[in-house]
Amino acid sequence: MSNGTPIDNVHKSGDSNLLNGIKPSIARVLERALEDREISADEALDLFSVSGREMKALLRVADELRRRAVGEVVTYVTVRNINFTNICYTGCRFCAFARRLDDSDAQFLSLTEVANRAEEAWQAGATEVCMQGGLHPSLPGNHYRDLILAIKERVPEMHVHAFSPFEIWYGAQRSGVNYADFLASLKDAGLGSLPGTAAEILDTEIRRQLTKNKLSSEQWVEIITTAHRMDIPTTSTIMYGHVDGPRHWAQHISLLRDIQKDTGGFTEFVPLGFVHYNAPIYLDGSARPGPTLAENLRMHAVARIMLHHFIPNIQVSWVKLGPEVAQRCLQGGANDFGGTLMDETISRSAGASHGQHIQPQEFHRMIRAIGRVPAQRNTLYELLRVYEDKLTAPQLEGDSGVREALVPRVRLRA
Ligand code: SF4
Repeated sequence: MSNGTPIDNVHKSGDSNLLNGIKPSIARVLERALEDREISADEALDLFSVSGREMKALLRVADELRRRAVGEVVTYVTVRNINFTNICYTGCRFCAFARRLDDSDAQFLSLTEVANRAEEAWQAGATEVCMQGGLHPSLPGNHYRDLILAIKERVPEMHVHAFSPFEIWYGAQRSGVNYADFLASLKDAGLGSLPGTAAEILDTEIRRQLTKNKLSSEQWVEIITTAHRMDIPTTSTIMYGHVDGPRHWAQHISLLRDIQKDTGGFTEFVPLGFVHYNAPIYLDGSARPGPTLAENLRMHAVARIMLHHFIPNIQVSWVKLGPEVAQRCLQGGANDFGGTLMDETISRSAGASHGQHIQPQEFHRMIRAIGRVPAQRNTLYELLRVYEDKLTAPQLEGDSGVREALVPRVRLRA
């Protein structure tokens, strides 16, 4: 808990006139946030438009709420992405990842190959595999369960974080069962948690522009809440900076907050900036080229303020933002660096240029550079090791205690 009044705490952090001299309407909202009161979607909409002194105050207040919620630790997880197929005919207009069956770079990994990748990741210190794929037109419904079983039989302790709500919808359809029964069969096979992807913007009109064939907002919410009620935690996401705007962002985050009040099943919120370079909706002139720097900063800060007391973890996507912008977002409300992401292909297909793997030491360097403390966590945000002492930073070569430190020992193939 903080000492003194909320405003006092912000004043201590550097600018004694932080809320003085800024627009009264913005000052009132930020004061309410510092008093730990809930911010409405309309108030959030005002925050999404700030600049100058108001922007500086927004970031400072978000940083203060982050400090109260989770302290000075910045977490990360050692994870391998497994995109088991890129074959998909859904036709999402923002997607540069999907391929057709006869495309030369179409890919469908065998169960053995998936298990091999999971085992390699475990040997390298990963605690999680994050597995998602396209909606292959002839995929049997039980393939999703078989994928989990293949991993768990080979690496029983690996956390399997897998399948977007759209894949759950598809698998349930293909299996002829309802969502709860389908999720129960996956949980029984060893599913640990679901990525809250395929949310994009939970707004009917925006979704219609992004894709005609994807699940609706209502279906996304139904699948997520069904999972939560079955004690299957999920992440939550937003994909922003295409044909959307601040009104959609405020309403989207407000909806996620309502779900969290009801179920408590979200572990984190991950803002995902639209990567436009190879996306059809950008190439045909319908979408703008992703969020601006200011929008990225405001998104993480407003999310922290809106979700305060409900979702404690706001993650930066370093793959989409790049390391420097990610650091700035961590100084304006965010607290988690996400995963080391061996084999990240979805953002890379869309044209992101920030790499597909990052070493824990690099996370440590970036976290220490902003005066914070690195910590390795598992998927469910249990801290595995807090690196209070700079001398305990993980080493790749000749490291002893690798399992404790969860440091990759071998270089994984791309
Ligand atoms: S976003 Fe997913 S569902 Fe949509 S086209 Fe790409 S792979 Fe298919």
